[in-house]
Amino acid sequence: MLAQHLQPRGIDDRRVLDAMSQVPREKFVSLDQQSLAYNDCALPIGYNQTISQPFTVAYMCQAAQLKGDENVLEVGTGSGYGAAVLSLLASEVHTVERIPEFKKQATERLHRFGYSNVHIHTADGNQGVQEAAPYDVIIVTAGAASLPEPYRNQLKPDGRIIIPIGTEHTGQTMYRFTLKNGELSEENLGAFTFVPLIGEYGWPV
Ligand code: SAM
Repeated sequence: MLAQHLQPRGIDDRRVLDAMSQVPREKFVSLDQQSLAYNDCALPIGYNQTISQPFTVAYMCQAAQLKGDENVLEVGTGSGYGAAVLSLLASEVHTVERIPEFKKQATERLHRFGYSNVHIHTADGNQGVQEAAPYDVIIVTAGAASLPEPYRNQLKPDGRIIIPIGTEHTGQTMYRFTLKNGELSEENLGAFTFVPLIGEYGWPV
């Protein structure tokens, strides 16, 4: 996967490549999807949701510029795969999911495979997770309509938000927002397609 799908598309952060090679993606999908786990595509995980494409996971992790000592919030736990990758790149990972069944499945998987620095919350990710803030990085794995207001106050100085935002829920631009001297600056990281973020800064159910 690294040589075929990630390195040729610009993933060169050694820690990200190592993390991607260590997490067994097939263990985060259903039995009937396991043979497809190392294709570079999103796969269905139920409830009309998907486990993100490996390239997208690696790209977001690389954009987050993680060194290993960070407190990270992931919005959209889904299968738990992204949280598992992040757990190898940061010190603590909080991940928030609106669908309780996903929390249950991801908790069981992450525990079974020993990703002990991941904490899963069931809540509306539009609000962030105040109780574990501040974060060095917030990664949003669903497409928003605008940047959720609460995130800024949950970010440390120099913190980053990696988030896909679009005017329609069918396609988004990935942005990296960086908090410097109290101001958020934004960088366009290209076009992506995510399932919609549901709620106040996203889309109706
Ligand atoms: N990171 C996941 C993985 O590795 O499997 C992929 C996540 S999937 C592309 C997007 C997830 O965002 C879905 O599980 C969906 O239920 C969740 N989601 C959508 N809106 C949400 C919200 N307001 N709060 C929390 N989770 C939300």
